[in-house]
Amino acid sequence: MSALPILQLKAVGKSYGATRVLKGIDLDVMRGEIVTLIGPSGSGKTTALRCMNFLEAYDEGEVWIKGQLLGYRLNGRAERIRDSDESIAEVRRPVAMVFQQFNLWPHMTVLANVAAPLVLSKKIGKGEARRKALAALQRVGLEHKADAYPARLSGGQQQRVGIARALAIEPEVMLLDEPTSALDPELVEEVLSVIRSLAQDGMTMVMVTHEMSFAAKISDKVVFMEAGKIVEAGPPAQLFGNTRTPRLQQFLKPWFDRSLSPTPTSTPNADNAATTGLNPPEAALIVTVTGRGA
Ligand code: ADP
Ligand code: MG
Repeated sequence: MSALPILQLKAVGKSYGATRVLKGIDLDVMRGEIVTLIGPSGSGKTTALRCMNFLEAYDEGEVWIKGQLLGYRLNGRAERIRDSDESIAEVRRPVAMVFQQFNLWPHMTVLANVAAPLVLSKKIGKGEARRKALAALQRVGLEHKADAYPARLSGGQQQRVGIARALAIEPEVMLLDEPTSALDPELVEEVLSVIRSLAQDGMTMVMVTHEMSFAAKISDKVVFMEAGKIVEAGPPAQLFGNTRTPRLQQFLKPWFDRSLSPTPTSTPNADNAATTGLNPPEAALIVTVTGRGA
């Protein structure tokens, strides 16, 4: 295994007009690592994730994928120039994205949805695309839905199709933006279970999530963002069990409070803690016992 990060952000910044929404993000993701991004709404998590595959063009710093600069090339005078779409596609090819709102095409069958990126982005035949798409559907337990249309599937099944579509391109890194936050609480677990099994297979993942208990158990590294910056980053045992910054303590407090409350909440919002059921010492224990970090 190479010691080079598979994905690396160096002082990445992004502005929308005069508003600087990412303010110098540094992040190393090693092959096989699970990195979760947490933080309040509007802190820049989605933007950071989208800059990692140039769905958003970052405008400061550098993003490196497997040792290649993403999005730009340097000319002789150390100025950088936007790369061609073709080169960008080539550099980002190992990286696949799973979206919060699934983004399936309603007029296409499940199989066609999963095969589409293969047909569009790689020069492989229809038969081969179909074979790979079916294998990806099998991986998420939905090969029997291949001929169904997305509207006939539950939200959980639709997101599993979203994951299959990402898997079909045989990515080396998966980016997941709140993959369960559009789901009713009872459908969250089937999606988390698929993500867990990908993690067990060694897939490298960067995931934005509000499922704190899941993040604590699955992550090698947790990154807490606020106002476009990384406030605290480290192994889950530190972030959840031995929090260093007051701001993260404050952010996590509602989660700990809910976990301690005698009546478990199951409100279907993005901060849903229905799967938590842990008090702080238990949380610390679980991340110590099951955290995948060294
Ligand atoms: P998060 O995912 O943490 O909720 P986002 O990355 O979506 O945060 O947003 C970070 C900030 O950038 C927010 O203030 C948001 O309003 C702003 N923002 C996001 N996308 C755009 C856009 N396309 N145009 C202008 N502002 C945007
Ligand atoms: Mg977001």
